[in-house]
Amino acid sequence: MKTTVHLSFDLDALSSWITSFKQTSPTPISRGEFGARVGVPRVLDLLHRLQVPATFFVPGHTALTFPEAVRAIAAEGHEIAAHSFLHASPVGMSREQELNDFIAAEEALKQVAKVKPIGYRSPAWDLSVNTLSILAERGYLYDSSLMADDYRLYRPRINDEVQSDGRVVFGPNSSLVEFPVAWELDDFVYFQFMGKPPLNGLRSAEEVGAIWWAEFDYCAKHVEGGTFTLTMHPEVIGRGPRIVMLERLIQRMKAIPGVQFSRMSETAERYNQSMPMA
Ligand SMILES: [Zn+2]
Repeated sequence: MKTTVHLSFDLDALSSWITSFKQTSPTPISRGEFGARVGVPRVLDLLHRLQVPATFFVPGHTALTFPEAVRAIAAEGHEIAAHSFLHASPVGMSREQELNDFIAAEEALKQVAKVKPIGYRSPAWDLSVNTLSILAERGYLYDSSLMADDYRLYRPRINDEVQSDGRVVFGPNSSLVEFPVAWELDDFVYFQFMGKPPLNGLRSAEEVGAIWWAEFDYCAKHVEGGTFTLTMHPEVIGRGPRIVMLERLIQRMKAIPGVQFSRMSETAERYNQSMPMA
């Protein structure tokens, strides 16, 4: 049974502290800086030693603020995908605002690392009514923000309508490929201390490694052609014991026959070849 693993890293650096958490004093900024300064080199070293490819979702602001870290990711052959300009949620943006945000994000990635992203992950893990059509228009192949599946890719619907009486009218499938995400498979909620629930973090690396292994094990044993997508943040997973846990996890996965590691762009291309839009 074949399983494809996607190691994905959201390199938010300062952008999430500035926009999502609205904290711009020196210590929060330094927490984001840790991701580019310490997390990225540790993650790149690990991926290099184990010879596995990964996908990095990089806000435009991170590329402009820490260009060397982003160029180092590209130089190792990992995929760089879009994650907004400054970690702003697309929900509530006008179409024009959202389009301008995509343009600014893409220009920064092009300027710093000479890449044109074909994948997107929303910083809010939520989409506006326009996001999927903007992605399709701009030549993206995939999104990774929704949660309607766990271990299988799917075509996300466009223009669903939730009516005032609660009735839901489903729209047609978009041309994109969805890589579903899950809080269970995100390092931030387990590890990042934010002072109050639900993000009070600081679970042990072993405990989280066991949760992630159990998820992977189910996928590998029960889902034919399953995909296993982990979402991590260099500022979170980059601490020593967590990197050690991640290394053990990758080694255990690699030891299972039929398991492959892939950049998400390559998996999306394979999906489009095997399941073309009608
Ligand atoms: Zn993010």
